[in-house]
Amino acid sequence: MTIYDLDSERQLRFSDEALRTFDAHRTGKVEAGGVLLGRVYPKEILIEAATTPSPADKAGRYFFERSRTVAQRAVDSAWKASVGEQIYLGEWHSHPSHTAEPSNRDRDMILNNLREAKMEIDFLVLVVLGRRMDWVGLAKEGRLHRLKRTAE
Ligand SMILES: [Zn+2]
Repeated sequence: MTIYDLDSERQLRFSDEALRTFDAHRTGKVEAGGVLLGRVYPKEILIEAATTPSPADKAGRYFFERSRTVAQRAVDSAWKASVGEQIYLGEWHSHPSHTAEPSNRDRDMILNNLREAKMEIDFLVLVVLGRRMDWVGLAKEGRLHRLKRTAE
């Protein structure tokens, strides 16, 4: 999972660092997750980093609820360290199934975040990791739709 089509002109790309974080949490005993950080370019949305779970998160075999405070701190410090370039771009978490599919709760969560967050961007990315197959989608204009992978 590296590059996805956003539309005919733009792509979503994941850095090696973000992919390493996903791989490290793909097959854990409990669900894991965090926030996606990156930059927006005219033709590309680049996910540079995925934050790792913290002890303040609530995680079980079939649920993951990340701590808002810890994630907000990660977003704030990334923003400061990059002089306002690296921003919050969405959410990721793992599912214990082979093929990932967002639950209704996942859909509500990302669409709520999109509505409530004060951001310069008008979209958010949702990554749901499966043990074999991931699900990557874009929340925009009140809807969440799956993105098509264009390259490894
Ligand atoms: Zn989920």
